[in-house]
Amino acid sequence: MKQVAMDIKMTTGSTFEGYEIVEYLGFVSGQIALGSSLLSNITEMTAQESTTFTNKLQHASDTALDKLCKAALKMGANAIVGVALNYTEFASSSIGTVASGTAVRLRQLEKKEAITNRLYVSNYYTRMIPRPVQVRLESEEGVVKIATDFYNYNMDEVKAIRADVALTNFYDEKVVLQGLDFVFAKNNITLLEADFIECKLEEKYIKMLKDAKVTVQKYVTGKGVFMCTDTPINVSLSPQSFAALKKKRGLDAFEKFKSDGSTWTCNCGHINGAGAEECSVCQRKEKDLKSNTSFDHEAMLDKMKTKKNVTEMKDVLMENIKQIDAGLRMELLEIMESALQYEKTRGDMTATVIEKIEQVFDVN
Ligand SMILES: [Zn+2]
Repeated sequence: MKQVAMDIKMTTGSTFEGYEIVEYLGFVSGQIALGSSLLSNITEMTAQESTTFTNKLQHASDTALDKLCKAALKMGANAIVGVALNYTEFASSSIGTVASGTAVRLRQLEKKEAITNRLYVSNYYTRMIPRPVQVRLESEEGVVKIATDFYNYNMDEVKAIRADVALTNFYDEKVVLQGLDFVFAKNNITLLEADFIECKLEEKYIKMLKDAKVTVQKYVTGKGVFMCTDTPINVSLSPQSFAALKKKRGLDAFEKFKSDGSTWTCNCGHINGAGAEECSVCQRKEKDLKSNTSFDHEAMLDKMKTKKNVTEMKDVLMENIKQIDAGLRMELLEIMESALQYEKTRGDMTATVIEKIEQVFDVN
């Protein structure tokens, strides 16, 4: 009996979420009469009789609803709106249950695919304030929402961050969303992921964005409100190298490791004194970052650039291979091997090889 009821949707209201009514088919009802003996004297029923009566009423309701569904199905409906259940007195003092409603045909509304984008923030702060690292955009049903994720090196209990978000599209057109208030589901963890908030950005721009810069105005921690007047530093890497660096070194990486003898620049962008073994902001260790950079790859690349084919370039790599960090050797050899294969069918691969090798060293 319940089986039939499952094929058809019912509501006491007039609509169904996510559906639209395409046709009203008309009033439907289903009824069932209960024996009159039951009604003889309700007030003098024993507890046992009362339970039996309740069960019978329940059963009668089910049957009436089932009949209602069958009637609606017969009309070609797939749903009933305005469903009501009533007890009615029939002739000769017998009681009955009547289920009624309006038979309709529903159509499921197409759920619009959400439009999303994710951009690395291309500016950074070197002080230990909550550091914006990533902007997420999402649009649903025409409403555009934005969220920014922050690195919380201090593990402060960050409650809210007010920031301006500057977005640039492929045509170099800029939109600045000012004073956005970001809050977080969890607020004393390293990566603070903001909740989405609505913003004034046209939906069509979401997929056209290439850059995001975030300027923190102020933020609230368990200790109070803090203003931020620091000027953020813009990332100097190309978008490709920047993305590769993030992939290899983490979401909070903004710069390549550099050392000039008296200071060293950490992947997080912070400049540390030569004596510092680890970065005072992110705790990356200098020796971990340094190990990949001792080799002078520029000289090797210059020599490779004088060669006319990949076979000769591979010879240059093999001359240097022992000085190259072990972690990079496989990657470089793979580049050479696949280029040697392609060279047979596609012709000159030397420029591609140079570019790929530059990328390997760029990131490391
Ligand atoms: Zn660092």
